[in-house]
Amino acid sequence: MKEVPNILWLEEIRKEDISSVGGKGASLGEMASIGLPVPPAFVVTAQAFRRFLVETGLDQKIFKVSDNLDVENNAALEKAADTIKALVMKAKMPASLKDDIKASYKKMSQKDLIVAVRSSATAEDLPDASFAGQQETYLNIKGEVALLSAVQNCWASLYGARAIYYRAKQGFEESTVNIAVVIQQLVHSEKAGVMFTSHPISGEPTTIIEGSWGLGEAVVSGSVSPDNYVFDQRTESITEKTIANKNVEIVPDGSHGTKLVEVDAARQDAQVLSEAEVAKLAMYGKIAENHYGIPQDVEWGIVAGTIYILQSRPITTIGKKEATSMSGQSKDAKILLKGQGAAPGTATGKVVIIRDAKDTGAVKEGDILVTRMTNPDMVPAMKKVAAIVTDEGGMTCHAAIVSRELGTPAVVGTKTGTQQLKNGQLVTVDGEMGLVYEGAVGGAAKAAGAAPGVVGSAPMITATSVKVNVSIPEAAARAAATGADGVGLLRIEHLILGLNKTPGWYISNHKEEEFVKELYDGIRIVLDAFPGKTVWVRTLDAPTDEFRNMAGGENEPMEHNPMLGWRGIRRDLQSPDQFRLQVEAFKRLWKAGYDNLGVMFPMVSHPDQFIKAKQMMAGWGVDVENATLGIMIEIPSSAIMIEDFLQAGIKFASFGTNDLIQYTLAIDRNNENVADMYNPQHPAVLSLIHSSIQKCREYGVECSICGQAGSDPKMAVWLVEHGITSISANIDAIAKIREAVARTEKRIILEAARNRDAE
Ligand code: PEP
Ligand code: MG
Repeated sequence: MKEVPNILWLEEIRKEDISSVGGKGASLGEMASIGLPVPPAFVVTAQAFRRFLVETGLDQKIFKVSDNLDVENNAALEKAADTIKALVMKAKMPASLKDDIKASYKKMSQKDLIVAVRSSATAEDLPDASFAGQQETYLNIKGEVALLSAVQNCWASLYGARAIYYRAKQGFEESTVNIAVVIQQLVHSEKAGVMFTSHPISGEPTTIIEGSWGLGEAVVSGSVSPDNYVFDQRTESITEKTIANKNVEIVPDGSHGTKLVEVDAARQDAQVLSEAEVAKLAMYGKIAENHYGIPQDVEWGIVAGTIYILQSRPITTIGKKEATSMSGQSKDAKILLKGQGAAPGTATGKVVIIRDAKDTGAVKEGDILVTRMTNPDMVPAMKKVAAIVTDEGGMTCHAAIVSRELGTPAVVGTKTGTQQLKNGQLVTVDGEMGLVYEGAVGGAAKAAGAAPGVVGSAPMITATSVKVNVSIPEAAARAAATGADGVGLLRIEHLILGLNKTPGWYISNHKEEEFVKELYDGIRIVLDAFPGKTVWVRTLDAPTDEFRNMAGGENEPMEHNPMLGWRGIRRDLQSPDQFRLQVEAFKRLWKAGYDNLGVMFPMVSHPDQFIKAKQMMAGWGVDVENATLGIMIEIPSSAIMIEDFLQAGIKFASFGTNDLIQYTLAIDRNNENVADMYNPQHPAVLSLIHSSIQKCREYGVECSICGQAGSDPKMAVWLVEHGITSISANIDAIAKIREAVARTEKRIILEAARNRDAE
């Protein structure tokens, strides 16, 4: 095979060269080859980068730092990223490579041409992984010295904390990720922006163009709210036009870099593109889309009336499950803000206003991140939150692209979000309609978007249901957005722990109604998020020590070992008032029509407890024969006696492996001294699980898992092989569990077919 040179010119490049020139480089080569107006460019190939790594010995050093890195540990991630970046920047570029770059630069122009130096990661821009904004671009570079340093900077940017995090989350092997660098004549755009050649969410044949003054970076980074033009390809006319106030632009800064400046008053509210320019851009977009056969996300610039196509890549979200908005259920809700619906799905949560990426430590699971604009440093926080609201930016800004891929609802360009919303305020975000509502809007999460999709991908349907665990109602929308087949565990103690008063406090202070209402409202949010899907609501299971610091906690008994103490069903059976109030909330929900609610009893150790609970519920007016009542299998005795439970009429069982492991192996799940012995795959644990699954299958009763082990793909494979009916995993694990389940099911079917053929 011919060795790939250090440099490839645009004219020599085709899309097949992606592994050498990266997504951007390959795309530009293709674009040039079909006659689109692409500025001249050459590419420092990925092979050149590899040679640099090998010749300087960096490959080994990088591996040492990145191997076994826990990317969820922010401090460790930042440290590793800084170390690797410093190594790359310090290394001396091999002379032959330096000479090749210098010679190519000269060949572009005898004078020192002003160029843009852009990273082009070889895994970047592929249909299934948009790495938007993950690697650096250096604009307005002039002269050999600046050019060489920009190239090295691009290489180093491959190892930014956010890039490492993103790759780890997307399952890319760190040692195989390469980077190419595109060096292209800089177009000093007077106006520039981005274009989606088809609608990024619905796939309609409408071209969406966003444009603003100056270089396109202002639009891509979300620094400005751009003009928005919608061009209908069927009628070849502009059907919608929004002229924004464009207060800033990015322009070249002398001979080096760029700067953000204020736009003069006359241009701020002026229309950026003429109708003819919109039509011409749409035509170029169509040429690109037809050539690739996939809708494109195109960057463009215009200088003195000449259009340049700067880059093009596939849109990553078309083909996603159609997400409905909340309209209809939200007629009475108060709209606080309007912006552009940039990532579909809805979520209810508390506002956390972030003014600086460094402050993202304040962001918690399920929060609504409100910020002027996101930047890639915020990705870990964006991953955590239920929705994102920005003041600035358009449909194609960083916040929009990354949110769509993460499946996090987002409304961008609200202009005043950070001023109008208050920290801690409860809002509901509709990422389809671009609206932010006051409070929790009923049924909000029904509309939650699908998990991130890819072009043309079919939804993954598994025979084994993949459900999701929910602990706080604020996470319901995100949980629903995974497309999970229901909720396999709703821990209601978190509703109570958040209130800071024990159930006993409510009872002794005659505030029973308040307690019931809290439960009712919290559970209902989750039920609303999963219409038509079962939600197993677990009765209270908080150990006494967790109640201690709350109001009423002084009355909690002191226990030497709360894990083995007064918790779960044992406590409820002995505290009829506490149990009755929970049942009252369930009864009201059933009465309100939520027949998808099932009740799960924790910590049962003997069928008599199940029978007793059922009797008590019947005494309070529950139609227990028709209600969906089941148990957690988390004490070995319940696994051993599973058949007696089945005969007692449980409608489902779910392994609480967090406890089942601790009680089977006598390993305190919270004790770090024995943590290394806490083994979900211990043969004794597996044996209890296996025999219970078999019995449940015999009785035709759903058997599930909701302990943490169910979020481990390896365990999921084992469980599917052993006949489990459903797996309930954490929100973040749903996609990988669904994939593991699907693969295992297919393998089982394939093996069965092969065995049949062999017979
Ligand atoms: C379990 O024990 O596995 C479980 C899911 O319950 P919790 O973690 O709430 O004890
Ligand atoms: Mg448990």
